[in-house]
Amino acid sequence: MLTTLKSIVQEINQIPQLEKALFRLATRVKQTMQVNSCSIYLADYENQEFILKATDGLHPDAVEQVRIGFSEGLIGLVGQREEPLNIENAHQHPRFKHYPEVKEENYNAFLGTPIIHQRKVLGVITMQQQDMRRFSEDEEAFLVTLAAQIALEITNAEIRGALTNSTSLDHLPKQKNVRGIAGSPGLAIGLGFAPERKIDLRDWVVRHSNNAEKEIQIYRKGVEITREHVDNLSDRLDKNIPDDVKSIFQLYHHLLDANSLGREVEAKIKEGWDAASSLKMVVEAYAARFEAMEDPYMQERAIDIIDLSNRILTNILIESRGHTIIERQATCDSILVAQEVTATMLAEFPRDKLKGILSIRGSNNSHAAILARAMGVPAVMGCQNVSPALLEEKEILLDGYSGEVIVAPERNIRNEFIQLIEEEKAISERINADSDKACETSDGCRVALYINAGLSAEVELHAGAGGDGIGLYRTEIPFMLRERFPSEKEQVQLYRQVLESSPDLPITMRTLDVGGDKPLPYFPINEENPFLGWRGIRLTLDHPEIFLVQIRAMLRASIGMKNLQIMLPMISSVGEVLEARRLIDQAFYEISDEVQLTQETLVRPKLGIMLEVPSVLYQLPQLARHVDFFSVGSNDLTQYLLAVDRNNTRVASLYNAYHPAVLSALYDIVRQSNQNQVPVTVCGEIAGEPGGAILLLGMGYRKLSMNAFNLRKINWLIRNVSLPECKSLLSCALTSDSQEQVFTHINQYLEEKGLGGLVRAGA
Ligand code: PEP
Ligand code: MG
Repeated sequence: MLTTLKSIVQEINQIPQLEKALFRLATRVKQTMQVNSCSIYLADYENQEFILKATDGLHPDAVEQVRIGFSEGLIGLVGQREEPLNIENAHQHPRFKHYPEVKEENYNAFLGTPIIHQRKVLGVITMQQQDMRRFSEDEEAFLVTLAAQIALEITNAEIRGALTNSTSLDHLPKQKNVRGIAGSPGLAIGLGFAPERKIDLRDWVVRHSNNAEKEIQIYRKGVEITREHVDNLSDRLDKNIPDDVKSIFQLYHHLLDANSLGREVEAKIKEGWDAASSLKMVVEAYAARFEAMEDPYMQERAIDIIDLSNRILTNILIESRGHTIIERQATCDSILVAQEVTATMLAEFPRDKLKGILSIRGSNNSHAAILARAMGVPAVMGCQNVSPALLEEKEILLDGYSGEVIVAPERNIRNEFIQLIEEEKAISERINADSDKACETSDGCRVALYINAGLSAEVELHAGAGGDGIGLYRTEIPFMLRERFPSEKEQVQLYRQVLESSPDLPITMRTLDVGGDKPLPYFPINEENPFLGWRGIRLTLDHPEIFLVQIRAMLRASIGMKNLQIMLPMISSVGEVLEARRLIDQAFYEISDEVQLTQETLVRPKLGIMLEVPSVLYQLPQLARHVDFFSVGSNDLTQYLLAVDRNNTRVASLYNAYHPAVLSALYDIVRQSNQNQVPVTVCGEIAGEPGGAILLLGMGYRKLSMNAFNLRKINWLIRNVSLPECKSLLSCALTSDSQEQVFTHINQYLEEKGLGGLVRAGA
């Protein structure tokens, strides 16, 4: 059953147009399950009805004609109940409604299953049969499994359809809205740019062309160049190549023959598609036929066909555009689109062209989102329903406050959006105008604002530009960007630069926090649950040689200075602190001995720990005895308290630092820290968010660390609020049932104060 399911889903996935794919689906299901009819209805939320989109068994004229209200008939019932309905005689069911156009009088047995994606009913798939019987458990299970698998394909295909249904008369694709997770606030407009796109036929978005002659020339030229490459390749290989390799080359030659693939591709071009799209359609149909064969050897040939076609596609692109997509550079305002946005990708992207970021994977607190916020670039994460290829060169409006993305916007929407961007600019000019004022609440409470640095070289430049020092210097990026561990000398140079950027202000350097979602390319860690695994201090204590080199580098960099503080990530017990302290003492004595000979000074750095693993909440008095300061890592604390992977798009809606339980924990930490007289900072993302900063002030925090970009905004906000207001908002938040309620309180308060423009689009 699994093989059949897989082959159906694969086949459907390869058909570019949704309508055709659904028809094929109906036929395959009807044949495979040996029933009399299979039909697919899709939901039209605007008109609150299901539309019959494809059928094999009902009357074909009923397609697109039969529309069933969301609360009507058996189809409506399946949608309402969101579960399968399996009945032996449909006509006798109280909800049965007769639609004469479908001609289903002879069918008695009915099985309908909702097609659901991310809690939303997309449609209903049905099987019907003349016999009066209940469908078996196996049949029901098959349909449920199939429905779950095709849900994502339908969403993808819908978006794909909307973005590519341009005819030669109408080159504009239809506007499409896509929803992701708000990753970095702000609004952006630009053309989609997908730098990591490989030339892969499967990703190619089909396009129309009305110049068949030109496309045929392009196709023939692409094939000719590919043939030369293949000939050269087989010539270079030894004459005695094994038979199976020989057979691959034979297959290549056969396919490159004008009478084979060529005839079919050229026929497609004449139907009105461009060369690349025609190649895709013909080749994928071939590959699907091979993949569907039972013989594994023949199945493998599908890979060869795709491989050859990717070579042809590359040459077609060079022929038609003069370049392949990979080699491009962004030349206009762009929205960077990628499966997973990486630090390297951002570093390489021309900064003046980068207006926004759209990541298919990831969530609000993935390090890519944190990096985007640090750079002040609006970002939307976890846009699962769309592939980068579909957004290439499309105009995109991106709202980093709400997570909304509009592709190929209509003119009036675009104009409104540009107006909102203007309003944003005006707000930030107001904020920047008095950014050098000291940070205190309207009733005179002084708040220290620190910078989170280390994620990108650019951020370091801001370090001296304001604030009371660096509250968190993340050291892992230089480790991630290299092909080996950086040497002690390399680290000394780097840390010295940072310490010298603000010699009179404290600089808190965190020891290496790799693992989790920050892997080192040269030190692979394969774990089932990386966030619960070998991460942060756990890894470095197991490798004292790595830890000691880093501590020595920090100490050496601090010779003659007095602003270094060292912080340990991922502490979960007192033992880890003691062990780390022992190693730090050892490094300190080693460097002190060297320094004594040179008359320089070495100041013993203060030692602090991140509070980000829930266990430490219950050991704060004990920990307080061994450290000089605490810093709350609310990003990880949220992840571990709520048991939600901060990177996982599927559970992104559950990850929220404003969950009343997380707020209670943060409140508890500041009270306990004050009782134990240990200074405490918050350096997680919540500290740099307007609502978060207000709540933290209400709790009693007076030190907040955030990315340089947010510093001015938060400074401005704090000067506009008073402590009693913060406390009253906190008490509403702590007694709320949910984070949604917390946000309602925060937003209401900010709007009343005229500060709403800090958390949503527009003034
Ligand atoms: C945190 O966990 O809140 C934190 C500041 O550290 P990171 O985001 O680097 O894990
Ligand atoms: Mg952390």
